[in-house]
Amino acid sequence: MKNLIQRNQIIEYSLKLNSTNLSPLRSGNISLRVTENDIEGYIITPSGKKYETLKPEDIVFMSLNDVEEKNDSVNKPSSEWRFHRDIYINKKEAHAIVHAHSPHATAVSSHRKPIPPFHYMIALAGGEDIKCAEYATFGTEELSKNIIKALENRSACLMSNHGQVAFGKNLEDAFELAQEIENICHQYTIALKLGEPKILSFEEMRKVLDKAKNYKKG
Ligand code: 13P
Ligand code: ZN
Repeated sequence: MKNLIQRNQIIEYSLKLNSTNLSPLRSGNISLRVTENDIEGYIITPSGKKYETLKPEDIVFMSLNDVEEKNDSVNKPSSEWRFHRDIYINKKEAHAIVHAHSPHATAVSSHRKPIPPFHYMIALAGGEDIKCAEYATFGTEELSKNIIKALENRSACLMSNHGQVAFGKNLEDAFELAQEIENICHQYTIALKLGEPKILSFEEMRKVLDKAKNYKKG
């Protein structure tokens, strides 16, 4: 089977979506950029399957040129394949994508507002705030367009009344970023309960963004 190691990695991280409660059962989806038979594309979790049942052959390959689902395969790709495809097309640095309905990110996303810099770790998503993609029905081209807009100069965003999406240079990084977004949203939820939090200035966030470039080790 082509890309067996990568297929197993998707399964490993799908099970982590379950065990970390980031997106349990069948919610959310994961993909990895790959080439199969010289065709540039990505492999992605199947639609509507419980993570604990996944086998390597369930993971679906899609070409970056595919504009519709193939009918010949047993498993349909995740219903969100359009935004996975568009992230890989628009972000050359994206090699893995994690979409999750993590509890606090989803709660915050229902406010349909960007998360302001109440904490400097906001910088992890790449800028001085974390955008929230405008609402559109799951699985649509419209949702994909809204996500691409919210990801301008960012590697993660919220999705209105839905959840979050994060990408990285590999699956470990994309997953870690999704976990960080969930943590930030948890902290923000608590901060909002105490009133309106004080927000770091644009200048302070620029300083943080500069320092953060050298932060991550190992
Ligand atoms: P899929 O099972 O089709 O990936 O759908 C899950 C999801 O989170 C849709 O937004
Ligand atoms: Zn979803």
